[in-house]
Amino acid sequence: MQRRRFFAVVSGLLTVVAACGSNLPVQAAERMTVQQAANASTPQQSLLPLYKRAAEETDVDWALLAAIDRYAELMKTKQAREASPYYGFAFEPAAWAGVDNPDWSDVNPSTIRLFGGLGRDGNGDGLALPWDPADRIPVLAAWIDELSGEDDAQVAVWDLFQDPVAMDRINAFQTLFLKYGLYPKGYCFPVSKRFNYTVKHTFGAGRSWGGRRIHEGVDIFASYGTPVLACTYGYVELLGWNRYGGWRVGIRDVNNVYYYYAHLSSYAKGLKRGDVVEPGQVIGYVGSSGYGPPGTSGKFPPHLHFGMYRDTGRGEWAFSPSALLAQWERLPQHIKYPGSSR
Ligand SMILES: [Zn+2]
Repeated sequence: MQRRRFFAVVSGLLTVVAACGSNLPVQAAERMTVQQAANASTPQQSLLPLYKRAAEETDVDWALLAAIDRYAELMKTKQAREASPYYGFAFEPAAWAGVDNPDWSDVNPSTIRLFGGLGRDGNGDGLALPWDPADRIPVLAAWIDELSGEDDAQVAVWDLFQDPVAMDRINAFQTLFLKYGLYPKGYCFPVSKRFNYTVKHTFGAGRSWGGRRIHEGVDIFASYGTPVLACTYGYVELLGWNRYGGWRVGIRDVNNVYYYYAHLSSYAKGLKRGDVVEPGQVIGYVGSSGYGPPGTSGKFPPHLHFGMYRDTGRGEWAFSPSALLAQWERLPQHIKYPGSSR
């Protein structure tokens, strides 16, 4: 089982490198060794063997451990980062050392155990260091394993964050990591280039309908029915009607960037909340829905309203997608229609 997952992830990584808009020739990507892929770029990649080992020793999915770490890392406030200047989930000092331990910065495994703290020495160096991933990750896995018992791990995840948003995102990150690896890379321009379109870079402009709101996105004008495409790997966080946006879709990626697509005429068949998508996947079709009660359409020329937002842990901020759109527009598109296998 572990072995199969492992190969799925490795081949996932290689496919990702090979698939979308990368400059690497496919053959070169296929020649990449596992180690090279692991060293490729990113802070969490080096933790992968620790997630895998902790998963083997418990019943906890490695991707869940990675998802918890990723979510915790992305949501760290400045203060939290100063208090725990290392990657991933940070145990409360009292939980690690034991509430009744007079020294909450205790790193001695024996006294920590004596006071009922969670901290353990995972790598045999005689210390239980909350910032050492070789200690922290096995402790996290064991704690989840113990708390979830015969149930799935949801209870434990709830206990860690006590926030339904965190539950949703961690679930989705876990699914994405399992399917595409820790750092799926690949981007796609949000409408099919086989159709005519015009990009209006109007981020930040005022707008007339719905009071004083600034325009948090870019409008891509195209005919009704032009396929609208997922820009990257992510999951469908939102789908439904809004009086401004009409029929819209919100997709979040594993870096907590949120992609917002509005005014659609319809959705891709079968698309629903929680679905995992990949770059180039058709998610809907250009329309002119919105500016009224559900079903309102035709109050303006058909276009895709496309917005991007970054979640900083203390709020979500729109940023101009123009530079990225210009990059993605130059990439080849591999369009995946609903129901088609790749
Ligand atoms: Zn717009």
